[in-house]
Amino acid sequence: MRILISNVVSLPREGSSRGRNPVDIGVGDGRILFIEDHMPLDSEKRQQQGPWDRIIAGRGRLVLPGFVNAHTHLGMTLLRGYGDDLPLMIWLQEKMWPVEEQLTPEDVYWSALLAIGEMLKGGVTTCADMYFHMEATAEAVAETGIRGFLSRGIQDAGGSGTRGLEEAVEFCRQWQGAANGRITTAIGPHAPYTCSPELLQRTADWAARLEVPIHIHVAETTAEIGEIKGKYGTTPLGMLAANGILDLPVTAAHCVHLEEADILLAAEKEVRIVHCPTSNLKLASGIAPVPEMLAAGLTIGLGTDSAASNNRLDLWQEMRTASLLHKGSSEDPTAVPAGTALQMATFLGAKALHLEQVGQLQPEWKADLILVDTHGLHWQPASDLTGRVVYAGERGDVSLVIVDGRILYEDGSLLTIDEEKVSYEVGKRAQRLGLLSST
Ligand SMILES: [Zn+2]
Repeated sequence: MRILISNVVSLPREGSSRGRNPVDIGVGDGRILFIEDHMPLDSEKRQQQGPWDRIIAGRGRLVLPGFVNAHTHLGMTLLRGYGDDLPLMIWLQEKMWPVEEQLTPEDVYWSALLAIGEMLKGGVTTCADMYFHMEATAEAVAETGIRGFLSRGIQDAGGSGTRGLEEAVEFCRQWQGAANGRITTAIGPHAPYTCSPELLQRTADWAARLEVPIHIHVAETTAEIGEIKGKYGTTPLGMLAANGILDLPVTAAHCVHLEEADILLAAEKEVRIVHCPTSNLKLASGIAPVPEMLAAGLTIGLGTDSAASNNRLDLWQEMRTASLLHKGSSEDPTAVPAGTALQMATFLGAKALHLEQVGQLQPEWKADLILVDTHGLHWQPASDLTGRVVYAGERGDVSLVIVDGRILYEDGSLLTIDEEKVSYEVGKRAQRLGLLSST
């Protein structure tokens, strides 16, 4: 499908001399064909570039790269609101894990559709998942048109490590590059405290053989640091390094409690970090040393983590929280400025997932973009645009979402998801699992 977005405002790119607005954007074959100064539709050039299957009037709207939710668990969206206000280990052991044992592939499929619908409406065009029944999630990603970086989660607990690893390997073989390349895969050892050194070593061997990255939780809580230091005499990141994981491309979620030496090690090994500020706050895990990690040159994306620990899958919220949190905690208003937060939600997030040509509006890059309505009073007056996006914008302002050159959401309607059916299925399943409150 060839789409022309005419007369839309874009953010000036860093290092680009082109700061003029508005622009016209051509999309075709899943990619951005051009971004040029706006000219009338009947101009010779635009006529020559056609014909267009669809011409979208961009006036009064802002175009942004689609957001990247670089760490979440789509299958847990069904558990939203179940076990609020508990510490991580109690939340996991007493609430999440017992319910997860009862989840069927169909539960995960509908949960993933719920998550994808929510994310698309808020402008998320790529998501990174680590969970089980991952085939069901991959089906949901393939059907709905979103971009997914998917990994089957594995751990030793309950003796499921071997089976988990076999399934993870099979999943990568089956789904890598599927859905026109929208699906990329990784192997997801859950965390240093749930995976033995032996399992991590075998995981590293397989990831190297399959040429896929590792997606893992790292240094999320002080309890994890204590446990790993007690067992192995090193930090969680040091333990991963000792078992070969850091010799591979790694996407490391959280990294709340990195020591100075860990930050240097992560920089040396080019570990890609995913900061999940809301989840870290809600589970009282702590505050990640984001300014220090940025200063060390680390790539940092943003993630919501699951809807059970957030409870939104909203990158507008994560951008804003990331920026405000680090200013407050460091008493430095220049920490994580708006432009950096926006980069973390887009380009740096894609980079954290080892994706190529995703996350920026550039010719030849993947056509993953969103239009944002800036008519609302909270967008007035027309001060610094990037600042307004990060500090004033919200997910309800998103009016159109394109992934891989295809329109998936427009003016309140999801075009690939039946919202009513999703709500019905999710409600039915939540009731069966005993997740609904009696009030
Ligand atoms: Zn997580």
